[in-house]
Amino acid sequence: MTDQERQEIKEKILAELEVTRRSIAELEELTKPIAPDDAIGRLTRMEAINSRSINEASLNQARAKLNKLERALGRVDKPDFGICAVCEKPIPIKRMLLMPETIKCVNCAE
Ligand SMILES: [Zn+2]
Repeated sequence: MTDQERQEIKEKILAELEVTRRSIAELEELTKPIAPDDAIGRLTRMEAINSRSINEASLNQARAKLNKLERALGRVDKPDFGICAVCEKPIPIKRMLLMPETIKCVNCAE
C-alpha cells in the first residue's frame, strides 16, 4: 500500500465515521419507546413495533460498524494495516476503500 493509498483510506474512514455517527443518531431517535396508540398517526401500533425492531437491528449494525471504523482509524498508520487477519495477504485497495473497517480479504470473509 502506498502512502497515498493509505491517506485515501484514512479519509474514507473519517468520512464513514461521520456518516455512521449521523445514522446512529437518527436511529436512536427512531428506536425511542413507542408512543401510545393515539400519538402514532397513520401507523398502527403493530407496524410501529415492527419498524422499530428493524431500526433496532440497523442501530446495532451501525454501532458495530462505528466500532470497527474507530479501530481501523487506530490501525491505519501501522504497517500491518490492510493485511488480512486470516491469510496475512494484503487486502486489495479497492476493498479497503469500499469497506475500510474490514480486517479480512474477500476470500477469508466468506
Ligand atoms: Zn485473507
